[in-house]
Amino acid sequence: MDFQTIKARDDQYVVHTYNRFPVDIDHGKNATLWSAEGKEYIDFTSGIGVNSVGVANPKWVDAVAVQAAKLGHMSNLFYTQPCGALAERLCRRAGMSAAFFANSGAESNEGLIKLARKYSFDKYGKGRGTILTLTNSFHGRTVTTLAATGQDVFHNYFFPFTDGFRSAEPTMDGIAQVAGHDVCAVMLELIQGESGVWPLEQSFIHDLAVLCAERDWLLLVDEVQTGIGRTGTLFCYQQYGILPDAVSFAKGIAGGLPFGGFLVGEKCRNVLGLGTHATTFGGNPICAAAALTTLDILSEEMMGEIADKGKYLRSAIEAMDLPCLGKTRGLGLMIGVEVKPGQTNRDVAMKLMDNGLLVLTAGPALRLLPPLTITKDEMDKGLAIMKQTLS
Ligand SMILES: *Cc1c(COP(=O)(O)O)cnc(C)c1O
Repeated sequence: MDFQTIKARDDQYVVHTYNRFPVDIDHGKNATLWSAEGKEYIDFTSGIGVNSVGVANPKWVDAVAVQAAKLGHMSNLFYTQPCGALAERLCRRAGMSAAFFANSGAESNEGLIKLARKYSFDKYGKGRGTILTLTNSFHGRTVTTLAATGQDVFHNYFFPFTDGFRSAEPTMDGIAQVAGHDVCAVMLELIQGESGVWPLEQSFIHDLAVLCAERDWLLLVDEVQTGIGRTGTLFCYQQYGILPDAVSFAKGIAGGLPFGGFLVGEKCRNVLGLGTHATTFGGNPICAAAALTTLDILSEEMMGEIADKGKYLRSAIEAMDLPCLGKTRGLGLMIGVEVKPGQTNRDVAMKLMDNGLLVLTAGPALRLLPPLTITKDEMDKGLAIMKQTLS
């Protein structure tokens, strides 16, 4: 099918909530993708950090196919092996105690919110259900996770939003200004992804962790984007030197299937008891099998390679000294590139796309989230397109 036909059908029958780039993707191999008409693209997006082990990774394809042929789904009223195996593996690598599995980032964060409120209710009763979040954060698109998101542009149309969130500037003064006796938790991203790839200060995170412990506020880390190897450790908090009370994950966990969840530390392992939380597809065996294989591929040894690839891309981009691009920031293969005034990040992304390189935008920046398995050859091809397009 040609692109115009694909586009026309989509325009007519799909609700117009996405500002799609004028490209269709039909198939791929690792970080190289092809349109239905056969145009080749180097992929620095991995489907917004989802295709963490690349497209059509043979181990992943095999794991999904084998599990699909065995058991595609069973409810959470019964035991299935992939779910427990995955929970054990994640807890061991993350230093956490137990896992709950869900289907998306927003749903996983909803779980963190319920966890914090239940923890506080059990211990202190009503009136302590407020969760502090940070300005420029992003936590999802449900009514509650929009309320948690610390950006006013997201607080439109869908009134009434869920009560019980206040956002603070990411400094200890900022936190002090919105703190109060009604607070039960702080929820944050260590690198704010959607708003432009902004790593938070390590000293702020340390001080905040101390304050949380003093006040018995749960420290909830949203690692939907930063988690599962993206920043060069399984979870980003492992580089910040903190142990959260609970952490959410989604995007990259199952290498392309819709999956997510959260891990809880010892203090919170029994907070959500029987009947307090559930989701029909949570822990689905195909997704769990895909996640186990994703974790096999993203081994501890592989974490160092991810960090090195990130450094390689960032220094290559800065060394090109392109007229429209400025400094880079981020950790591992979560990279923000400053776009200088004169053109928008979307204009730059469109030009790159025309020449065969897919990148993302976030806030005012270009955002690069390539598959963690991207090869040197694929990185070099992408960099060459960047140089040729933007010089
Ligand atoms: C993408 C993202 C979400 C939302 O995840 P969905 O799967 O789209 O619901 C939440 N938090 C962060 C930090 C994200 O990057």
